[in-house]
Amino acid sequence: MKNFTDLGLAETVLKAVEAEGYTTPTPIQAQVIPAMLEGRDVLGTAQTGTGKTAAFVLPLLNRLADDHQRPPPKSCGTLILAPTRELAAQIADSVRAYGKYGRQSVAVVVGGVKPGPQIKAMARGVDILVATPGRLMDHMQGGAIRLDQTTTVILDEADQMLDLGFMPAIRKIMSKVPSKRQTALLSATMPKPIRALANDFLNNPVEVAVATVAKPIELIDQRVMLVDRSAKRRILIDIVGASDVERAIVFTRTKRGADKVQRSLADAGLSAAAIHGNKSQNQRTKTLDAFKNGNVTILVATDIAARGIDVENISHVINFELPNIPESYVHRIGRTARAGKSGVAVSLCDGAEREYLRDIEKLVGYKISSTGNGGAGDEPEPRRGGGGRNGSRNGNGNGNRQPRDGAAKNARPGNRPARRSKHKAKPAAQGAREEARPGNEGDSDGLVRMLGQKPGGNRPSRKPGGPRRSSRKRSQGGGSEARESA
Ligand code: AMP
Repeated sequence: MKNFTDLGLAETVLKAVEAEGYTTPTPIQAQVIPAMLEGRDVLGTAQTGTGKTAAFVLPLLNRLADDHQRPPPKSCGTLILAPTRELAAQIADSVRAYGKYGRQSVAVVVGGVKPGPQIKAMARGVDILVATPGRLMDHMQGGAIRLDQTTTVILDEADQMLDLGFMPAIRKIMSKVPSKRQTALLSATMPKPIRALANDFLNNPVEVAVATVAKPIELIDQRVMLVDRSAKRRILIDIVGASDVERAIVFTRTKRGADKVQRSLADAGLSAAAIHGNKSQNQRTKTLDAFKNGNVTILVATDIAARGIDVENISHVINFELPNIPESYVHRIGRTARAGKSGVAVSLCDGAEREYLRDIEKLVGYKISSTGNGGAGDEPEPRRGGGGRNGSRNGNGNGNRQPRDGAAKNARPGNRPARRSKHKAKPAAQGAREEARPGNEGDSDGLVRMLGQKPGGNRPSRKPGGPRRSSRKRSQGGGSEARESA
């Protein structure tokens, strides 16, 4: 498959694809688009960064271009389920972008915001409804939406939905959709419960698999700095204040840690904002918009809040704290070097995090080049609460909290932070669920390799104008991502 034109897509869809600057379908697109156009169900192993959103959105738009009949009031023609608010908003943005020459309607239904505007948006019937499962269930129970007219269902990032405890809700939702329908299920990984879901709800699907989380993409220049825990903030300020930092995400393991890091960056005169599950949806939306449009240069985030974030030109990812789940490292650093660009990933590793580093290196299959020899005096971090699979795999939920700087005095020797556990906790309320675990989302093998671009230089392009110590605007696209959900 060489071109989008070979796929048999409608003129309006092709025009939008061209406007996006896409020339060649990615592997997932080349396989999923024809299957969906034939009306087949699809079971896809693919993650963010592979171009999977367009893979399922373009055929949907194609059908609407061919035959557009608005669904009856309080119903939707297509339902797209996604694990998080940000991802739902991002998918809806893609629908709008790819559908800009069509006339389809799209609505977003997510938690954390007022239900009223969502009820209004669905009242007349909507072509494409993008929803997180919890809020959708609320609207179904309240009579604002019914699914008996739905002909297509997309389950995106199904393994994240599993991890967040959404499986019972998904099964309930699916039971309300007529069995005569087209269903596509996309997942970064294919654990047994997702297979079971596919067996129960997909009819003779075409199976498509593109590269899974394995190795970080070659375009990311990865570095580890072995540092004392107490020196991390100072070093972070030096790194993100440097002139080659165009736009950076700083990852912390905890929500409180994110706030503290954000404050110290702001105190140093840097343009930084924090995003995590304790922030209201409006705050999350505003922060993400500001980061996208360049009003904020540094986003300090927990793993969970960074899910689904697809922001261009992130030149640096800084792991202020190493994740205790090695896959999270791959997902985190995959926020940079997107769409063929290069990027830098710096990990500040203190003495207590060396074991995490070893786990990460085992996963990626090589030693990451390191500098410094600090951290020898750092005590292991104290462990508080459980480390259950749903509870705190990444420690940014309610289990394993990072101590304050200098809190080594609280540490109990030999007591390591919570690590991956096989135990599965019961799902909590949706807000908690959304902050409960790290994302599987990422794009390790990403678009770069998918598109066959050559791995090359490791440094991001230097932005003229020196370091960002102000909040000056950048002419960056996007910005409306989560607006509809606010
Ligand atoms: P996704 O995996 O859907 O999150 O897409 C990742 C990124 O790839 C998004 O920024 C898309 O705009 C971009 N993208 C999707 N399809 C293509 C394509 N065929 N060519 C170039 N970029 C693409």
